[in-house]
Amino acid sequence: MDKSKVVVFEKPNVPLEVKEFDIPELEEGCILVKTLVSGVCGTDAHCYRGQVQMPVPIILGHESVGMIEKIAPDRKKDSVGEPVKEGDRIFWVAGHPCLQCYSCVALKDTTGCVNRRSYGWSYSCADYPYLTGGYAEYVFLTARSYFFKIPDSVPTDAAIAFGCGFPTAVKGFEVIQGVQPGQSVVIQGAGPVGLSSLVMAKLGGASPIVVIGAPSSRLEMARKLGADETIDLSSLPEPEARVSKVRELLGGEAELVIEATGFPEAVSEGIDMCKTAGRYLIMGVFSDLGPVPINPSLIVRKNLRLYGSVFWEPKHLYQVLQLLAKYNDRLSLQDAVTHRYGLEQSTAAIEDVEALKCVKAVIQPGYEAS
Ligand SMILES: [Zn+2]
Ligand SMILES: [Zn+2]
Repeated sequence: MDKSKVVVFEKPNVPLEVKEFDIPELEEGCILVKTLVSGVCGTDAHCYRGQVQMPVPIILGHESVGMIEKIAPDRKKDSVGEPVKEGDRIFWVAGHPCLQCYSCVALKDTTGCVNRRSYGWSYSCADYPYLTGGYAEYVFLTARSYFFKIPDSVPTDAAIAFGCGFPTAVKGFEVIQGVQPGQSVVIQGAGPVGLSSLVMAKLGGASPIVVIGAPSSRLEMARKLGADETIDLSSLPEPEARVSKVRELLGGEAELVIEATGFPEAVSEGIDMCKTAGRYLIMGVFSDLGPVPINPSLIVRKNLRLYGSVFWEPKHLYQVLQLLAKYNDRLSLQDAVTHRYGLEQSTAAIEDVEALKCVKAVIQPGYEAS
């Protein structure tokens, strides 16, 4: 039986361990994918720190690009009917909705599924099909998995560059029904969700766009992607100072503010940055880091509209790949992959992401730093 190296998470704050798992026999509808790159998501850091409940042991990694190693004879097409074969590059969808709950059925929106399971954080690797996370040489996709062939013109690094952040932003923009040309936008956070939101705002014609974040490499990427102004958290550590800076740059508050930080404290600051009748889209605070004080009177007196958006559906990942096929020549998102690690360096990768050292970090099985 063939084997796959995998990286196993057992306990919070304990370094991940490289192990070897047997690769299960291919059954009907299943695909064995050889991992090319797996994104290290901010959520992986929250998982590693024990801030996300998970059935351990787990193989982390919920955003991956891989090559079809073996595909069951009954599965000849991807999830939009594109023919696929062994050797093709695919991006698979980690999440599996139940299709039997209120959100899945009555709302026809699987992102609110209460029974959602996902490769990389809610399937234990102690159970079949074992290879259920991207931090591994191989991933075993069951018949439930959606996946899309990556257009030939899209570099692998461009596809993974903003990982699950890109479809998250595409879905968030769908929730708020996009931006109007000329609308002013503030984006809190320059990680994958923030930078993806910037791409979406820019494509929608928003202007000016201000991105707040750190480190400088991410802000540099933001300017390359068309941010008109950036605010470095390290030079303006106080929320009040950032709100004043936004007012100064825009001559007032913003018509649309997007939270993409993952930190609950950002929300009251974001409300301060919203203009009268402005909109506030909150996507970053996924992990539950507890409550924070906000001033509801501001929401009332400014006629604000607040939107929350979680997860995304397979169609949003499909849209990302189509968007990359059309625009990556000028976006050059592959430049966002600034840090690369082998499986053995997975813990260091998570720590570096947590310390905001990277624009985007990826795990690439077999990679050795030169
Ligand atoms: Zn993620
Ligand atoms: Zn459901």
